[in-house]
Amino acid sequence: MLAGVKQDAMTNPATFRPAKLADAIAEHIQQMILEGTLQPGERLLSERELSAKLDVSRPSLREALDKLVASGLLTTNAQGVAHVSDSVGRSLRDPLVMLMETPEARFDCLELRSVVEAAAAAFAAERASDVDRKEIGARFEAMVAAHEEQNVDLIAKTDADFHFAVYEASHNLMMLHLMRSLETFLRSNVYLNRKNLYEHRTQKDSQLHEHKAIFDAIMARDPERAREAARLHMTTAMQTQRAIYDAERRLEASIRRLARSDLVAPKKPKS
Ligand SMILES: [Zn+2]
Repeated sequence: MLAGVKQDAMTNPATFRPAKLADAIAEHIQQMILEGTLQPGERLLSERELSAKLDVSRPSLREALDKLVASGLLTTNAQGVAHVSDSVGRSLRDPLVMLMETPEARFDCLELRSVVEAAAAAFAAERASDVDRKEIGARFEAMVAAHEEQNVDLIAKTDADFHFAVYEASHNLMMLHLMRSLETFLRSNVYLNRKNLYEHRTQKDSQLHEHKAIFDAIMARDPERAREAARLHMTTAMQTQRAIYDAERRLEASIRRLARSDLVAPKKPKS
């Protein structure tokens, strides 16, 4: 009996088809959820409509949906209507942002950026179209305005926006896609670095000058100068963040020592 089933599966490719098809559909929907094309809480079309749209049989579709429900990406209500799970956004975004808040992750991110930013700036200097150059200019102006306002949230946002315009102008789709896929991470990194710098700043506009150097080199279509300016921007950021981190650790250490040696009253000698 078992042999018969096996034989049937091997000689008739159609026997394999529903399982594979269900996997492919499940993977496709999962990808759309992970990329954010399908948003948490969104209602999917009915099984009948979906099977017609995707041109797949209802059993295959049902199997795919069941898989996604089992993995927690979809939920179904009493009527059997599928929704993208509400917890998807939380489970995808929050751990990233939380991870980003550890100093190790912040330094890893800066290290990655020190490689990518330098290359992106050089490519942008070489390849930026007039539209790209206009966009980079507009974003640099927005960053200058944010500095004038001394608004740290806006400074961080315009800083990240500027770098994304440079990735776009690199005309390297892999690079752009890589950085877009890390966008939550990168924006959080820029924000934390900026907030840190703002709270500990000694020279309030130093980073604006670093960005101006990148901007000027791209406008001058000078790849080597752009690469060097972007590299310097990231090395300075790493050194500054490292110095702030070390200062904070020293402060913590002295607070710990203070707690041990100075907060407890000395024992009175018994007389
Ligand atoms: Zn920057």
